[in-house]
Amino acid sequence: MSKLKIAVQKSGRLSEKSLELLKSCGIKLQNGGRTLKSTSSNFPIEVLFLRDDDIPQYVEQGIADIGILGQNEVWEKQKDIDELKLLGFARCKLSLAIPKENSYTSIESLEGKRIATSYPIILSNYLQQQGINATIEEIGGSVEIAPGIGLADAIMDIVSTGSTLLMNGLKEVEVIAKSEAVLIANRQISTDKSKLLDQLLFRMDAVQQSKENKYILLNAPNDQLEKITQILPGMKSPTILPLAKKGWSSLHSVIREDDFWNSIDQLKNAGAEGILVVPIEKLIL
Ligand code: ATP
Ligand code: MG
Repeated sequence: MSKLKIAVQKSGRLSEKSLELLKSCGIKLQNGGRTLKSTSSNFPIEVLFLRDDDIPQYVEQGIADIGILGQNEVWEKQKDIDELKLLGFARCKLSLAIPKENSYTSIESLEGKRIATSYPIILSNYLQQQGINATIEEIGGSVEIAPGIGLADAIMDIVSTGSTLLMNGLKEVEVIAKSEAVLIANRQISTDKSKLLDQLLFRMDAVQQSKENKYILLNAPNDQLEKITQILPGMKSPTILPLAKKGWSSLHSVIREDDFWNSIDQLKNAGAEGILVVPIEKLIL
């Protein structure tokens, strides 16, 4: 049976999280992921380690069936591939920045200016959409030094905390897009492989759900159980078990972490005690 081939970044900001995701889906990899290719001992998958820039092309050509990379690279490369699933890591912005002493009122301030970037396609689409004419200086890296050395008046680059901009005397003036890691796929995946892909997606969903939810246990007097059940926006009805202490029960449920923080005071006021919140490893809804 053929193996599903997945391309991940060889070394960089996406590598560790990509391998962690596969691991959390129960996929064990041989040789620790430090060679060009790695296979799994317990799932028909082969991992190819590549530069992130090359992943869209390899997936389009079917050299890899699926891949993990930043949406920014997907948008820039404009290959014919499917975006299957946002993965929630490597979150960053694509922003325009200018020297901090320069004035900026709106995007019009960049009319006729030179903008350095490693993402010429994304930038030119944006400028066109905004009706701005500017010269795009395409450079491979260290974009933030471009204004300082006189190559450009502004830059468009990846920003996360903004500390790189600050260090280079720049200020963010527009956020063009927000990006995160995404799972992409070849458009003509074989039936065999799409079955494997469905299995992988199922596992990814289970992992994602588990991260957003917590298992909650609490003790409460029996006469308060109904009230507490109403406060808890659980998945379905909670499990209620009698405690050795007469007139008391233990209540178990699964709730979204956000909901938990919003209802904690109400739970305590309703008489809940010994509230325990534990992580869930996998959750199938
Ligand atoms: P490669 O050698 O594979 O071409 P690279 O230098 O192009 O790597 P990295 O710096 O490792 O890329 O970044 C990979 C991706 O991680 C980026 O395309 C982007 O989606 C995301 N990313 C980059 N910088 C940050 C950041 N500071 N915070 C969060 N995510 C980021
Ligand atoms: Mg790259």
